[in-house]
Parts: sequence; C-alpha cells; structure tokens
Amino acid sequence: MDDLVIHGGTVVTPRRVGPAAVYIRDGRIVRIGKFASAARESCAAHGLLVLPGGIDAHVHFALPVGGTRSADDFRSGSLAAAAGGITTFIDFTVGHKEIPLPMAVERRLAEASVSAVDYSLHVEMVGWTADRRGEIQAVRDLGLRSFKFYLAYAASGRRTDLRTLKAAMEAIREIAGVAMIHAEAEELVEPERGPFPWARPAVSEEVAIMTVGILARETGCTSYIAHISSAQGISALLSARRMGAPIMGETCPHYLALDERVYAKPDGYLFSVTPPLRTQNDQQALWRALAQRRLHAVATDHCPFTHAQKEPFREDPKNLPSGLPGVETLIPLLFSLGVAERRLDLRDFAWYTAEGPARAFGLWPKKGAIRPGADADLVLLDPHAVWTIRAAGLHMATDFSPYEGFSVRGKVVGVLSRGEWIYRDGEILAKPGRGQFIPWQG
Ligand SMILES: [Zn+2]
Repeated sequence: MDDLVIHGGTVVTPRRVGPAAVYIRDGRIVRIGKFASAARESCAAHGLLVLPGGIDAHVHFALPVGGTRSADDFRSGSLAAAAGGITTFIDFTVGHKEIPLPMAVERRLAEASVSAVDYSLHVEMVGWTADRRGEIQAVRDLGLRSFKFYLAYAASGRRTDLRTLKAAMEAIREIAGVAMIHAEAEELVEPERGPFPWARPAVSEEVAIMTVGILARETGCTSYIAHISSAQGISALLSARRMGAPIMGETCPHYLALDERVYAKPDGYLFSVTPPLRTQNDQQALWRALAQRRLHAVATDHCPFTHAQKEPFREDPKNLPSGLPGVETLIPLLFSLGVAERRLDLRDFAWYTAEGPARAFGLWPKKGAIRPGADADLVLLDPHAVWTIRAAGLHMATDFSPYEGFSVRGKVVGVLSRGEWIYRDGEILAKPGRGQFIPWQG
C-alpha cells in the first residue's frame, strides 16, 4: 500500500497542467494518474494547485560580510524556506585564497547539516589560481559541479580576472560543470558610492555578460548568469546565446517586484541590494524574457539584514550591507505577480521555480519533477487566497521585508519533502537537521 495520495488537485509541471492524483511511497512519487486506490493517508486537495517543490538556487545563509553576517543561519533560513514552499536550496561555500576548495566544501556542508530542507552548494571561487585545477576534480568527487565567480568586488579580493576565469572554465568544462557568474564589470562600477543604480549601472552588467558569453563560447563551459537585473543584461544574454555560447540566466523576485523609485524614500537604504533595483522598463524586459522561457530560474539571492544591521550605514553607502530577504516569499510573490497577474503561465512558473534550476544544477530528475521516481517534494498552493506580506508574520530572521504591505494572491498551504509534511496550515513541521545534502546527479 502507498503511504500517501494527494487527490483532487491540479498538478502543474512545465509541460502539463491538469487534474491528477499523486501517489507517494517511501519518500518518492510512484504514480500520477486517476484517483483509484486508497493509501495509508489521503489528502484532498480540491481547489488547490499541486506544484513541484520549490528550488531556490541562490541563497546566502550565515554569509560573513564586512564584520557582520546575513541574518538567517541554516536553521532559521531553512525553516523559513519550508514555510515558503522551498524544499531545496543551494547556498555557497565561503571562498578564501588560503583554503583548498574541498576543505571549504566540507566546512560549509557541516554548517548546512542543521537544515530542515534539502540542499546543495555552489563552490565560491575566491583567490583560486590556474595551478589548482586538481581541486576542481576533487570537488566533483564530493558531488559538486557548480562554481561561483565574481567579476566585481576587487576591493575585498573576491574578483576573478579574465585569464583566471578562462582557465577555470576550461577545467569546469572537463567535469561537465557550470560556471555561475556575478556579472558586473568592475571597471564600470563605483563601489564607494554604494549599491545603487547610479554607482552600478546596467551597462556594467551588459559588458560582463557579453564577456562571459565570449569565454563560454571559446571554452565550451556551460555558464549561468546570476541575478540578471536589466534589459541590457537580458539582451546581452540572448546575443551571447545566438553567438553559440552555452549560457543560462537567472533573475530575482526583487527585480520583478520593485524598481529604483524605492531609493528616493526616506528608508530607501533598506532596499540595498547588488545589482541594484532598476527601472520599470528593465522590469518589463525581465517579465518578457520569463514569459518566453529565456531563463532557467527565478532565485532569491536571499541575503537578509535587519533594520539594526543596515541603519548605522544610512549615510555611509560604501559600507552599507547589501542584500534582501526572499526565500520564504519567492513562491507566493512570483505566483501573484506572475501567474495571477497574467504575466506568466503556470507551466512557466513550474519551470522557473523547480525544473529549470534542477536541470541547471544537476538536481534533475530527483528534484524539481512531478514524475515517478522523483523525490516527493510538493507544494499545495491555494491560488485564490489573498493575504498581506508582513515581515512580522514571516519566519526569516529579519524584521524587514522589501514587500511589506504587498497584497498577494496565492498562499502556500502544505509542503511535502520526500513524502513528509514539513509545513501545513500555517505550521512548520520540519525539524532542523532533517535536510539532506543532494549531490550532483549523474
Ligand atoms: Zn548572491
């Protein structure tokens, strides 16, 4: 007998939307089809959407930055993820030029082991040199194949020069991995003027993406552009692809939901994020790219700070912590602004929140899929429920939400991870430490 059947709901995948029952046994989906036989537990999902569990491919829990840390640790961040329908997240190692990549991986996996949902890591490349190719192979043997590079942040030593990037891309290609890029051209930004559009213009993103595109074409290394914020960034991505570059892209909910006008408000500094928020025109270009399925993921770049962490730097843009919370609001916000407001259809929603990132980062088909054999990671979403986002009502460890007061349509009412209820009717049921590391599949 199966453990659980979810019946009466509308099952959503990137290829199909329709009524079906989903049967689950031993943490996996075993069958999708007519509601015929009973199971040990049965859940009636009438009027609800049955979505693949969300994958947030870009989060920063407990990120050390400028003498402080992003407000969520792996415990609070992963519990908030569970409440928001995110059943898998991908965080980053903390790169340092003195630390071999495999050691950075082991350390970060140990920190992540308290997580309540499943996870993987991108390997941050800071201070790596071309004579360390062997470390890339060693990391592959640990189950990781995604490597993160910064083309900006020279002052803190995180930037990778193009010669080193090219050498790394050659090595990553050999292991069939992915180069994930923070695409801002250092020479075109003015870090001392803060994380704002007047200091970090869209052209810096455009130049960086074109450059990466050329290197991707030249090396054959699959590349993934993180947090694309602008129309120019999108057009550079598409040009690079036309030129033959194997290149994927991601955008974030804040670029879709907010624009640069927030910086004119008295509390505008609280919206500091890199790259910065841009114009409504940029926003429209991002929505268009999503609707045409040009990108692989909407991920949050979750990196929250509290009022108290940002307030001292109100008049000190150079040292203002940069980053926004998002892991808990990704699903409802993208559903509301995208699907409910008819900018995005449901199939695309399932692509950007599940299958796209799963395919980009070696999690497919274990994760991101509603099909036999996949982990039973599912989200039940009430598409008609309307509620108001309030930081105080969320579980992330910050008292600030950039979406405070937003009225959204679509509410997560149940979340399954490997067949286990981890969130139901407003209650987080997940226990810290139950999350598993998911190595690159295949
Ligand atoms: Zn990031």
